[in-house]
Amino acid sequence: MNNLLSIDDLSKEKIFYIIEKSIAVKNGNKLYVTMDSYIENKIIGLLFFEPSTRTRFSFETVIYKSKGNVLNYNEKISSTKKGETLYDTIKTMEIYCDLFIIRHPDNDIFEKITKYTSKPIINAGNGSYEHPTQSLIDITTMFEHNKNTNSIFKNILFVGDINNSRTINSLIKCIYKISNSINFYIFSIQEDFNPKIKNFIKNNNIKITRVFSYDECIKDMDFVYVTRCQKERQNLDIIDYKKEMIITPNVMKKMKPTCGLLHPFPRNEEIDIKCDSDSRSLYFKQIENGIHVRRIIMEDILSKTQDFNRIKSHGTLDGGYMYSEEY
Ligand code: ASP
Repeated sequence: MNNLLSIDDLSKEKIFYIIEKSIAVKNGNKLYVTMDSYIENKIIGLLFFEPSTRTRFSFETVIYKSKGNVLNYNEKISSTKKGETLYDTIKTMEIYCDLFIIRHPDNDIFEKITKYTSKPIINAGNGSYEHPTQSLIDITTMFEHNKNTNSIFKNILFVGDINNSRTINSLIKCIYKISNSINFYIFSIQEDFNPKIKNFIKNNNIKITRVFSYDECIKDMDFVYVTRCQKERQNLDIIDYKKEMIITPNVMKKMKPTCGLLHPFPRNEEIDIKCDSDSRSLYFKQIENGIHVRRIIMEDILSKTQDFNRIKSHGTLDGGYMYSEEY
């Protein structure tokens, strides 16, 4: 894969490859753990125009562990503050970087940026549209859970701010790509989906059932995927998270013993902290899997760059440096 801008960039086989390889790396499969790293010695530009904790730090963690280098672009202390355009920022950063990881509030940002640069790009979240690396983490965590519990996946319930959740949008696309027999349910604070994903749902005839209480469906769910209210994206007055949507130990009592509870985080009030000790709560596993999944994605993209980029530097006895093509 050359870029990861949307789940549309991935084949079903590629999604399975990422899931399987990430789980193998996590479990210390020697074949993968000892593999050469394409991240080593690379300079990776993290350009985040929106806040982030897990996405940014998981990418950074992998890059540091793989002996790569990070250039962290910070809008507040960069020339954007002096009126620099996005075009000039990208044209400048592409001189330094081998790969871009970009988060931006504009849904259509990659249509613009791909015109400015041919450097590989990973989408770390574009507006309320997509967050493909998060959904690959989610699906990997779901597969891992099903393997551990020996259960099968038929029904998933999405809860929260469906209208604005880029993680739900990408996950629906991702699940649909690997199986068209999964039943989707939503328990939503708002009526609708983002127009772009609405078209995807319509064009693919995906059936989504809307419920108005957990009691309507929770006992049949294999996964419950909860999201926060994206207050920063509401045009209207702030919509409050509905009390009856909060997952408490009492709600969890109604779930199957094999059901998995997911949340892309950050969490606000949607899941009571008392649920954290329930083995069906998978959100901290999602965070852990983020490191492995994002590593596999970066390795895959960087493995497509030309061989001359894979030059390693070595200290020589006289203290100078020589450069050798290592691979
Ligand atoms: N971290 C996720 C995202 O960037 C979910 C969220 O912010 O609610 O979309």
